[in-house]
Amino acid sequence: MEVTGQAFEDMQEQNIRLIQQLREKDDANFKLMSERIKSNQIHQLANEERNVLQEQTNTLTTQVEAQFQVVRKLEEKERLLQNSLATIEKELSLRQQALEMHKRKAIESAQSAADLKLHLEKYHAQMKEAQQVVAEKTMALEQEAYKYRRVQEEIASLRRKVERAKKFEMVDRADEVLMEEIREYKDTLTCPSCKVKRKDAVLIKCFHVFCFDCLRTRYETRQRKCPKCNAAFGANDYHRLYLQ
Ligand SMILES: [Zn+2]
Ligand SMILES: [Zn+2]
Repeated sequence: MEVTGQAFEDMQEQNIRLIQQLREKDDANFKLMSERIKSNQIHQLANEERNVLQEQTNTLTTQVEAQFQVVRKLEEKERLLQNSLATIEKELSLRQQALEMHKRKAIESAQSAADLKLHLEKYHAQMKEAQQVVAEKTMALEQEAYKYRRVQEEIASLRRKVERAKKFEMVDRADEVLMEEIREYKDTLTCPSCKVKRKDAVLIKCFHVFCFDCLRTRYETRQRKCPKCNAAFGANDYHRLYLQ
């Protein structure tokens, strides 16, 4: 009896222990289940996340391709721009050469212009000298002509004197000679322009003598030249002459 009770107690104890164990296992099992659920949820979330990332990746890949295309276009553009840059640089160097050539030509032209100016000034100086010489010669010539006319007048006067002397020799009657002489003196005192009035005015340009009226008339009718020698005269060049 005792043994049976002991065995029963043992069995009960064992039973309790087994129940305890079973409960523990249940707990563990429950824990595992809940963990599995959690892990499933995590897995699903991860899948979703992966899908999102995949989409993002696709989008980014598309963007990258687009960017690549843009880069290719930009490279193409750069090539074109470099080509045109090279062309422009070539043109620039050509223009600079032309510019330098023009500069050289301008300098040469300025040089030759200066030379020509120098020549011109020399010619001007020569021309002035020549004009001076011509003026001097003209003046000398005029003086000579004036002298010549005076000499001719003197010759005429001498001729008259000679003729008078001859008449004194040839003619016996003194009366006639004297009459002749009186006539000559009258002539000498008469205006040679109008041959009527007495001489009473002188031209101080040439010192020829006429009547005042003749000279005034000539002045007023703008024939302002000496009737004898053609010397020009002005308002202040004819004056009264008082013989008495
Ligand atoms: Zn007169
Ligand atoms: Zn005169």
